[in-house]
Amino acid sequence: MTDIASHRGGALLWPENSRLSFENTAKLAVEQVEFDVHPTRDGKLVVIHDSTLDRTTDGKGPVAAQDWAALSTLVLKGTGGQRMLLLDEVIEIFRPTPIVLRLEIKCGPDRVPYPGHAARVARALEQAKVLDRSVLTSFQLGTVCEAVAAARPMKHVWLVLPDVQTDIGLANVIASTKGAGVPMLGLRQNMLTAEIVATVRAAGLGIGGWACNDAAAIAKLLALEVDVFTTDRPDLAIAQRRARA
Ligand code: FE
Repeated sequence: MTDIASHRGGALLWPENSRLSFENTAKLAVEQVEFDVHPTRDGKLVVIHDSTLDRTTDGKGPVAAQDWAALSTLVLKGTGGQRMLLLDEVIEIFRPTPIVLRLEIKCGPDRVPYPGHAARVARALEQAKVLDRSVLTSFQLGTVCEAVAAARPMKHVWLVLPDVQTDIGLANVIASTKGAGVPMLGLRQNMLTAEIVATVRAAGLGIGGWACNDAAAIAKLLALEVDVFTTDRPDLAIAQRRARA
């Protein structure tokens, strides 16, 4: 069966990465919840997608330039007053559920990794005793490796941007992944074919898809029988998976 991951807590259904989105996702028949983690200036871990505050909050500028005391006063757009959550708060929303935590370890503005961030995220999961139900992902292969060197999750995944897949080619993507000891790839849904899924699996790697946000993309990934995909429409994905069963 293909697992479904509610992307940013179901970003087309509820305000992304909000308590509202996570509490609603916790009630769904999904296997995973995806969310994004940045550091604050004072070393806390917060759940927000962008490296800057402008798009999804009433604040401005880089997330990592502010302390939690200031960030916690900002309102997430569309939530009716909710603030952003700490990583620990998201963990507690899902602790009573069987849903796997699928964390994306983010980088700072201009795609510069935050020093020590990946290791800190991994150690936070270890401290919260949820490593064995966590999947660590990043678009930066070095970030995935840094996290896993600090604490080993149930699974770790390199998310590959289409440009990277095109520029270095699938064979090099696979070689880099295996060379780094990473067991799984996540490719953008439009970059996946039956042949590519077969090639990745033949190399001994798991295969997932991302950005499956409409009925056509969801149908495609269900037909390809990938291991997992992320979707902003978990409701649609659940319905389409049920209809195929
Ligand atoms: Fe993400």
